[in-house]
Amino acid sequence: MVVLTKHTLKDYELVLEAKDPSRSFHGLFIVHNTKLGPGVGGLRCKYYACTNDAITDGLRLAKGMTMKSAAADLPFGGAKSIIILQKNQKKTPEMLEAYSEVLNDLQGKYYSAVDLGTSDDDIISLAKKSPYVLGIDDQLNTIDLSYYTAWGCLKGIQAAANFKWGSTNLQGKTIAIQGLGSVGRKLAEHLFWAGGKLIVSDIDQARVQSAVRDLGAIAKPLDQFTQQACDILSPCAIGGTISSETILHLNCEIIAGGANNQLANDDIGIAIHDSGILYAPDFIINAGGLVAAAINYQNKQGFSARQCRDNTNKIYQRLHTIFCESNEKKRATNAIANQLATHKIGL
Ligand code: NAD
Repeated sequence: MVVLTKHTLKDYELVLEAKDPSRSFHGLFIVHNTKLGPGVGGLRCKYYACTNDAITDGLRLAKGMTMKSAAADLPFGGAKSIIILQKNQKKTPEMLEAYSEVLNDLQGKYYSAVDLGTSDDDIISLAKKSPYVLGIDDQLNTIDLSYYTAWGCLKGIQAAANFKWGSTNLQGKTIAIQGLGSVGRKLAEHLFWAGGKLIVSDIDQARVQSAVRDLGAIAKPLDQFTQQACDILSPCAIGGTISSETILHLNCEIIAGGANNQLANDDIGIAIHDSGILYAPDFIINAGGLVAAAINYQNKQGFSARQCRDNTNKIYQRLHTIFCESNEKKRATNAIANQLATHKIGL
């Protein structure tokens, strides 16, 4: 049986810890704000050194989802869930079963989707047990939301390139991609065909070798990856890679990638701005998957890939507007993006 413990945290509608030792399940369900619609956010399966680290990560991610939805004019609030894994522990069907029971208990206050550490197969098994899953139609065909996320990142990179260098042309530009998972690999393919030179890293060496072979990428070690000399640094794995330590050694002109919470905190955005690096705010550039989730939510029977593409393409203009405003007001791009989103939520 799953035992639920509610934590009360200022500014969050729900922070629920769920445990079922008999199924080795330890989960978190965090709903930040549902003013614009039900809370939506992917399920992350990951090892954390302690529960507090997972809560801290989940709180930031859930808030980021509220901001992402609002900025992209989507009818969603922000939320996130996590299955907390022990060191070297693998996700199991029993854990997902326990997770789906809590999802159903929440009765649509929270909709789940794919995220770091979850796969299409996980989404199918969840959707068999719960209607509160996005990225899948009513025939249990999965919709790979990461296609739209990666495409939106390409559009965002083009917007940043145009703003910085006066052209969207990426021919010959060096792009350092951290993480070659669902988003990073697809983005790497787009950038390869756009003429970019790729530098890559991933903890999974098979993914690195595949990018070296298929995309002519140059493999670099995980350590100090953010210090790579490149035109564009593209974080596509974990959050917090741009911190007060790493910022001192950045060697790029643009930061634009798919990962959530790339900045260790909001003040890092000011330091990036002051150093002349153009930062594409993460929750703006990586909204493509959520755009597709919204279309899936509105119509479970049919899925319009073309509508998703057209809405995802709007990321280019949204970022361009943010870059212009940042330039005019001499404020960090993430501060402009935060203001845009909070204004729409009415916070
Ligand atoms: P994924 O699990 O498919 O891939 C993550 C990849 O990063 C894996 O290949 C993993 O081995 C690698 N990785 C993990 N730690 C690393 C490290 N320290 N250095 C280098 N590589 C590392 O996840 P994903 O769906 O591609 O998501 C990647 C990021 O994008 C996450 O931050 C996620 O929250 C964000 N995001 C994803 C989507 C989506 O549609 N999937 C949408 C918006 C945001």
